[in-house]
Amino acid sequence: MSAAAKLVFPAPDAPAPGIPVEVAPGILWLRLALPFALNHVNIYLIEDGPGWAVLDTGINDARSRAWWEALLAGPLAERKPTRLICTHFHPDHVGLAGWLANRCGLELTMSRTEYLTTQLHRRWAETTEIEAYRAFFTANGLDETAIGSILERDIGYRWLTTDLPSSFLRIASGDVVTIGGRRFEVLTGGGHSPELVMLLCREDGVFLAADQVLAKISPNVSVWPQEPASDPLGDFLHTLAALRAAVPAGVLTLPAHNLPFRNLHARIDELTRHHADRCDAIAQACREPLLPAEIVPKLFPRRLDAHQTGFAFGETLAHVNYMLRAGRMRAEPGDDGRMRVRAA
Ligand SMILES: [Zn+2]
Repeated sequence: MSAAAKLVFPAPDAPAPGIPVEVAPGILWLRLALPFALNHVNIYLIEDGPGWAVLDTGINDARSRAWWEALLAGPLAERKPTRLICTHFHPDHVGLAGWLANRCGLELTMSRTEYLTTQLHRRWAETTEIEAYRAFFTANGLDETAIGSILERDIGYRWLTTDLPSSFLRIASGDVVTIGGRRFEVLTGGGHSPELVMLLCREDGVFLAADQVLAKISPNVSVWPQEPASDPLGDFLHTLAALRAAVPAGVLTLPAHNLPFRNLHARIDELTRHHADRCDAIAQACREPLLPAEIVPKLFPRRLDAHQTGFAFGETLAHVNYMLRAGRMRAEPGDDGRMRVRAA
């Protein structure tokens, strides 16, 4: 029996977009739509005295703003948002943070790295760094169409997010945040984003996992051109091991995508195995030296569009960098001066 079969989904029917439902005592689950292949994000509202602490916001588009306006005029009219916590810099999580904080007079709580990374990504479209990034992708073997799609996505970040408040309240691993009299331990994770915030209410057995552990999707773990030698897969696997040790097996996990589930440890084991299998597949594929982009079709045999190729490339490079560090691969320059990798 696979670990997936052991996951339990206590609330198998997701709420309709924009309609909050109680998923755990004092925690509302809200879904907002996304205009991507991954078509939704889960937002949570945590009871906080007279109102609700909001965890993540959805993307900056007209539809999400309209849902928030309807919520503020309807279900949240009496009990208003009290504060805003954003888990990480991706636009489906932080997209409306500036707008919502301004609209409702809320203080924004984030980890420092996620706040700064949001600011960094918002200014990309204004810089000439784009040409340096293009060179990075070319050196790794990506074609012009895929490169164009990746750069378009990165520039698009600016329009999918709103200006953050000029100051924020920092939270970090080891902090305890009190929300409505309940203690939530702050855990942070790496790999999917640099300092992703998760909240654990040990007393009530509830774990708000953001994108670190999802039931159906393997969270994207990618190398980005600003930090070409980074090891996000190492960070991600390290975080999974730390979560397995720190978070009790019996918690209800409330993730930012897919359904809430039980049996977190089984899912952690499955994700860990998935990446080990992928490393083995890369070692198999790289008996001859290859450019990183040449490995992508060997790992993802189905046809990928340019957008998917961008993610698949970043994910492949994450595995390559991890294996280079572990001594399982080595890099060697080709006749054209571009670096290729092969199994060690
Ligand atoms: Zn994310």
